[in-house]
Amino acid sequence: MTYNRMKAKPIEGERCHFCGEEGLPLVKTRCCDQWTCCDTDYFSIRGGGYCQFEHEHYSPCYFHYNEKHQGSLEEYKECRDFFD
Ligand SMILES: [Zn+2]
Ligand SMILES: [Zn+2]
Ligand SMILES: [Zn+2]
Repeated sequence: MTYNRMKAKPIEGERCHFCGEEGLPLVKTRCCDQWTCCDTDYFSIRGGGYCQFEHEHYSPCYFHYNEKHQGSLEEYKECRDFFD
């Protein structure tokens, strides 16, 4: 299991928890510890359109993690509102 998208591989019996796709390289999200599909290229344009990029750039989940807030996302209305 890896957090490094460049080392990601498809995992038998697992699927991306965001799009549900099987057979794609999977990496764990740092923010919520979920399997997500990702681009494994060193130079990745917009994450290759995979869920990992989307989640780490456009989700309150990752934003909240990156701000190092204590507690759950539910307790931070400003994090959720930021993306509304
Ligand atoms: Zn996906
Ligand atoms: Zn997350
Ligand atoms: Zn937050």
